[in-house]
Amino acid sequence: MSQAGPLRVIAIDGPAAAGKGTLARRLAATLGLPYLDTGLLYRAVGRRVLDRGADPRDAVLAEAEAKALSARDLERGDLRGPEADFAASAVAAIPAVRAALVAFQRRFGEERGAVLDGRDIGTVIFPDAPVKLFVTASVTERARRRHLELLGRGIQADPAQVEAEIRDRDAQDANRPVAPLKPAPDAVTIDTTALDAEQAFQAAIKVVELTLYTTGR
Ligand code: C5P
Repeated sequence: MSQAGPLRVIAIDGPAAAGKGTLARRLAATLGLPYLDTGLLYRAVGRRVLDRGADPRDAVLAEAEAKALSARDLERGDLRGPEADFAASAVAAIPAVRAALVAFQRRFGEERGAVLDGRDIGTVIFPDAPVKLFVTASVTERARRRHLELLGRGIQADPAQVEAEIRDRDAQDANRPVAPLKPAPDAVTIDTTALDAEQAFQAAIKVVELTLYTTGR
């Protein structure tokens, strides 16, 4: 580890639309830590492959695009929406793509500490993170939230289709052989099905405070 002192990383994993991003951003702001939405890395790689008119499952091309990824790619305006969701999930199942993105994520967290959210932060990227949260919610509730989010962005979508896409992505992320979506053995699960953003934040900050109290970090 390049950083001095204990690792100040909060790892947040969980399925799509469970509220990870909202929670991670607020924790980062409250604790004064940088925040990295690691899903953006996979989204940007997927986009780069689509730009070339290629299939995001093309392992050779996707690996090359992951290695060529730059910070500017993460600022693109087309990283959300069903096409980007699926391209991200497809490139994320390719081991060489994941390997190409590991160093960037570790460097980000080790510099000054950070809150990172994704699918494998607590299991693969920072297995020694002092705080690991697994944020989840029922599929129906996650689909409801994603549908509202799309409407908020002016995108009309069929609720049943939104739910089907979330189920497909859950299955693809949880069943891939490399870094599948699953809670780390030492992660605390927060089920946000019946929680609003404030309640989810309160549950998370309790876990953070407990960790600071029990480990002195
Ligand atoms: O979190 P988000 O929905 O933006 O992630 C998009 C996709 O990127 C996920 O469905 C997953 O396949 C992939 N991903 C991943 N590992 C991460 C973050 C995202 O495999 N740490």
